[in-house]
Amino acid sequence: MKRVLVTGGAGFIGSHLCERLLADGHEVICLDNFFTGSKANVVGLLHQPYFELVRHDITMPYYAEVDQIYNLACPASPVHYQQNPIKTIKTAVLGAMNMLGLAKRLNASILQASTSEVYGDPAMHPQREDYWGNVNPIGTRSCYDEGKRCAESLFINYHNRNGVRIKIARIFNTFGPRMAIGDGRVTSNFIVQALQGKPITIYGNGAHTRSFQYVDDLVDGLIRLMNTDDSITGPVNLGNPHEYTIRELAETVIRLTGSRSELTFRPLPDDDPVRRNPDVSLAKQILNGWEPTTPIEEGLNKTITYFKQLFNI
Ligand code: NAD
Ligand code: UDP
Repeated sequence: MKRVLVTGGAGFIGSHLCERLLADGHEVICLDNFFTGSKANVVGLLHQPYFELVRHDITMPYYAEVDQIYNLACPASPVHYQQNPIKTIKTAVLGAMNMLGLAKRLNASILQASTSEVYGDPAMHPQREDYWGNVNPIGTRSCYDEGKRCAESLFINYHNRNGVRIKIARIFNTFGPRMAIGDGRVTSNFIVQALQGKPITIYGNGAHTRSFQYVDDLVDGLIRLMNTDDSITGPVNLGNPHEYTIRELAETVIRLTGSRSELTFRPLPDDDPVRRNPDVSLAKQILNGWEPTTPIEEGLNKTITYFKQLFNI
């Protein structure tokens, strides 16, 4: 049994990670300030004796005796991270410094939830870990993209200078149950709109792409990465290499929900990356053959069932 700290543990991905770590027999401290996450996401875990929920903001130092730290705390949806961009930068950067300081003091392993956004609007396709990216440093997405890039730099420097045992996961678009209703990301927006019979909002003409990974596959990849040999630091892409246009996603959601919603087209937000697709050969190689195994339609059906339960449909 390990003692594991999950920052952002009451969020979408964090709650699935906490659940899986407890099921694997570990003791879990879930730390969250509930900015985009909620107690409802972890209420089913509160009765477990080896689960602790702590309200805390990672821009402030935190101390607890743990063996492993998963650093997930950070708003992830463009709508949320742009709401208070300075706070987003503080969470990404000061949060990383606080957690790295803790890992250093405890000699704990620490995994950073980095993002495909470090590649910006990529000129290399699909994206490999050795691509440096194409990010607008002063654009509307920069608080998140540059915050996460700075966090990667902090991680690698704590490793090189202080020998901290680090793992950097570059996560590509992930979806599943417990995304917040008002999260603003495309999968939850489309499902909620389809279930409510509202127009499906496509930003741009729907030809731009993303690659969608079901949350269970990601959690499996994160845990495998955390438990690799100390020599493996990453960055490692974790995503589903199957690329979808946004229009295809909208049509699939309409078909799976049996909705009568129509498509409506809105302006594309600034700096919205045109294409995104992970090269996951490194993950496959160092994580014992890891690759996403949940077909997108199966993942969408599970997510649709979740939202139907929320809406009592
Ligand atoms: P989420 O918004 O559901 O979860 C983030 C959690 O962090 C929330 O519970 C929120 O309340 C908490 N949080 C935010 N600021 C905090 C702070 N200052 N102190 C403490 N807690 C704070 O988003 P998610 O999709 O679960 O993302 C989790 C992590 O994975 C994030 O770091 C995100 O950048 C990364 N990521 C996610 C995706 C994706 O597609 N879901 C893709 C790339 C990277
Ligand atoms: N998008 C969309 N309609 C929505 C929400 C998002 O067309 O209601 C688009 C968005 O412009 C982007 C893609 O879907 O091109 C993925 O957006 P999301 O916010 O989920 O994540 P991103 O990958 O941009 O961080």
